[in-house]
Amino acid sequence: MKVQIVTDLEGISLVDSIDMMDRKSEGYRFACHRLMLDTNAAIQGAIDAGADEIIVTDGHGGGGNFIEGELDPRATQYWDYEDKSLYKDCVACLHIGLHAKPGTLNGFLDHVQSSLAYTNYYVNGKKCGELVQNALFCGSCGVPVVMVSGDEAACAEAAETIEGIECAVVKRGIGRNRAECISSEEALERIRIAAYNGVKKAASIKPYTVEFPATIKLEFPRSDYCEKHLEYYSQYTRVDARTIVHTIDKIGTFLDLTLQQDPE
Ligand SMILES: [Zn+2]
Repeated sequence: MKVQIVTDLEGISLVDSIDMMDRKSEGYRFACHRLMLDTNAAIQGAIDAGADEIIVTDGHGGGGNFIEGELDPRATQYWDYEDKSLYKDCVACLHIGLHAKPGTLNGFLDHVQSSLAYTNYYVNGKKCGELVQNALFCGSCGVPVVMVSGDEAACAEAAETIEGIECAVVKRGIGRNRAECISSEEALERIRIAAYNGVKKAASIKPYTVEFPATIKLEFPRSDYCEKHLEYYSQYTRVDARTIVHTIDKIGTFLDLTLQQDPE
């Protein structure tokens, strides 16, 4: 039984401050170590539930966050997350370290892709974030997202979006840039159990989808960002000074759902 795990950094256990996102900081190294522990707890849960092939993608900020030698060797790291062949024969996706969509009250480091580049992201008029982007892409390959871990707000968003999803809450946002965390032991146990339960019930969770043709809308913080993107992405049309939209009939690649953060 094949399972895919995609990871992010903001929703990792014991990551409690925005400073830890700075790749040059001591806190970042700690966050990466925690990322490995959370991921390994999910791998253990998936294996206990019967998975015998696990593929892991380091999804935060273009990758480079995994610490060599710390990933459970029973899993394989895979680089090209956009490659649909990754999902062949896959029964479930687990989303570890998730954060909430932009504009979520007490969502720890809430954003979509880049808090500087994008203000809001909508699918068919509904504001959403990276959970939906990932769930839609997996869903287009017939794979359901069955489990997430992250802060309370991210998990609430997941529970509202995907019926039956298992959630491991590892912290609570205090405002945007700080969080109150549960202990390491408790967090890893919650992740392992949620991964186990998610994989066990994978067949009962529907791959996520929306109505097609679907509209993808992006709002930028400044109108010049909007202009720069329009130069590179001719499939989009402008709605107003800071908003662009395009319509898709299906999801061919991840870029149908979004844009690269910086077209330069
Ligand atoms: Zn991230």
